[in-house]
Amino acid sequence: MRVLITGGAGFIGSHLAHAHLKRGDEVYIIDDLSTGSIDNIKEFQENPKFSNRFFAHIDTIFNNNLLLELAGTCDVIFHLAAAVGVRYILNNPLESIRTNIQGTEAVLNICSKFKKKVLITSSSEVYGKHLHAPLVETDNIIYGPSIKSRWSYAASKLMDEFTALAYYRTKGLKTIVTRLFNTVGPKQTGAYGMVIPRFVNQALNNEPLTVYGDGKQTRTFTYVKDVVWALMNLMGNENAVGEVFNVGGTEEIMILELAQKIIDKTNSKSQINLIPYEEAFEKDFEDMQRRVPSIEKIKKIINFEPKTSLDKIIDEVISSSRKKRRDEV
Ligand code: UDP
Repeated sequence: MRVLITGGAGFIGSHLAHAHLKRGDEVYIIDDLSTGSIDNIKEFQENPKFSNRFFAHIDTIFNNNLLLELAGTCDVIFHLAAAVGVRYILNNPLESIRTNIQGTEAVLNICSKFKKKVLITSSSEVYGKHLHAPLVETDNIIYGPSIKSRWSYAASKLMDEFTALAYYRTKGLKTIVTRLFNTVGPKQTGAYGMVIPRFVNQALNNEPLTVYGDGKQTRTFTYVKDVVWALMNLMGNENAVGEVFNVGGTEEIMILELAQKIIDKTNSKSQINLIPYEEAFEKDFEDMQRRVPSIEKIKKIINFEPKTSLDKIIDEVISSSRKKRRDEV
């Protein structure tokens, strides 16, 4: 099979590329390296088992001719290219909206021309300010006002979902929508705000861990390889077409507790610093206080069960960060 992955040099995209290469597929990626990195794909280019089946295009999804060529060549498309991370969105509000909305439309439009099945990656952010758990795919959504840029990410991802579903309904394009909940694992960078790589780096440097707000907000983390398994199995399942799925873990944890766990696991001398949101981000910044997925729907269709515990996820991130540090010396 020939697989196109937009955002294939990103954190999740490169893990997905690896899994397809291991399965024997031909993998084409397109990535503008805005948040992705060559380091994430170097191993595929250098590994003789993969290099003749791996084709990387460092370019944007707005290059229509390239997209036409790649979508024409491939059997299925995973669309992961997007502006990601709260900090990145706040720093690049206009570019993020453009990439997420126009970029996704461009990809869907070309998939539709060739009638190629496409899976798009949306986000748990689309649920907005709910406090209840678990979040079900059919729940209503609540956002803050447009003056608060944070919500532009949620709204742009929601627009992607509407667009994908509209292509399905009006043009019969086979689209699958996934809502990813805080995916973590090796290769993820803390540069755009992601909490686990940030805390692990801070702990390994014996620097204070920067917990935002009172740290009582919770998240449910999912291991990247479990997410990749889910994406591949959804793509392979005809009943997933035209549907929306949560992809997430089951262990809810408070951010303050997470910080302490990482300090303990790394034997770090770090303290915990509580940083007010307005200092960390901007005035009147609103965080999501709770984010727990219902995974009933995805369980039913592909028997998805997150296999990797939070402890194991954190241990993996710590050991891969330690290894990266050793390699860089
Ligand atoms: N967070 C934190 N310190 C950090 C980075 C993040 O306390 O250095 C918090 C953040 O406010 C949020 C949670 O950790 O409540 C998860 O943040 P992340 O950016 O990883 O993902 P989000 O769920 O916000 O998309």
